[in-house]
Amino acid sequence: MNAKALLFDATLCQGCGACYNACKEQNKNSKACDDPLKDHLSADTYTVIEQHHVVDANKNQSDIFTRRLCMHCIEPTCVSVCPVGAMEKTKLGPVLYDADKCIGCRYCMQACPYQVPRYEWKSVNPKVKKCIMCHDRVKNGQPTACAEACPAEATIFGDRDELIQIAKKRMAEKPEAYYPEIYGLKEAGGTSVLFLSPVSFDQLGFSPNLPKGPMPLLTNKVMEKIPTVVSVGGVFLGSMYWLTKRKNEIAKEQMKGNNNEK
Ligand code: SF4
Ligand code: SF4
Ligand code: SF4
Repeated sequence: MNAKALLFDATLCQGCGACYNACKEQNKNSKACDDPLKDHLSADTYTVIEQHHVVDANKNQSDIFTRRLCMHCIEPTCVSVCPVGAMEKTKLGPVLYDADKCIGCRYCMQACPYQVPRYEWKSVNPKVKKCIMCHDRVKNGQPTACAEACPAEATIFGDRDELIQIAKKRMAEKPEAYYPEIYGLKEAGGTSVLFLSPVSFDQLGFSPNLPKGPMPLLTNKVMEKIPTVVSVGGVFLGSMYWLTKRKNEIAKEQMKGNNNEK
């Protein structure tokens, strides 16, 4: 199966919140507020809609909407820094997370060039949370929930190669409507979430300074220099995590025992 991707087109987005609501429902995540524009990425929110006041090439000002979600990098830094292989880039496109392997070191959060992964700070058994590109749906040939819900074709799902052609066609047909670049084509080595915009991407809060090559190559160079720190650190953190988890389990068992004795 070809690698899948999402294309978001900020010239078409109406900020209606359908993608946000569909994501909440798909992932059974609670809502912190009723207004999607006021929410932010969190352990319960894998995508948000942002409103930006922008100025186009003709100096016209307007308010436009964009989305934030995991970019599903082609060569993800979160995968390359994870010491236990809890993050995985699938051939199908989604970057997946295995909570059973995770030791809670949070290197992935530090390494992500888009500041996406979030941590369940309030949980006794915390996990890393982020969009997994609706992997179960995609595996079964369905589009992601956010793409299916979008009434304006602002978020569409498909083969990455085809989405790039669609993006190019949209830009060629209406050159006056688009900033002439596809964000995600090359950034950090390319991503499986692509963006079109009427204005330069820095106006939408995207970093204009990301390298065009894969970032794991850079992190690997750094990691090569500190192998002992990383491996010993990983084992240490793993041990600490296991001890804390075990302590909680023992405390729960004791509580159960106490309650049974009553
Ligand atoms: S955006 Fe961040 S979390 Fe998502 S794949 Fe890329 S590095 Fe990993
Ligand atoms: S918190 Fe650490 S172990 Fe868990 S996925 Fe992130 S890098 Fe891997
Ligand atoms: S792909 Fe799925 S998990 Fe990711 S933002 Fe869209 S609905 Fe949410």
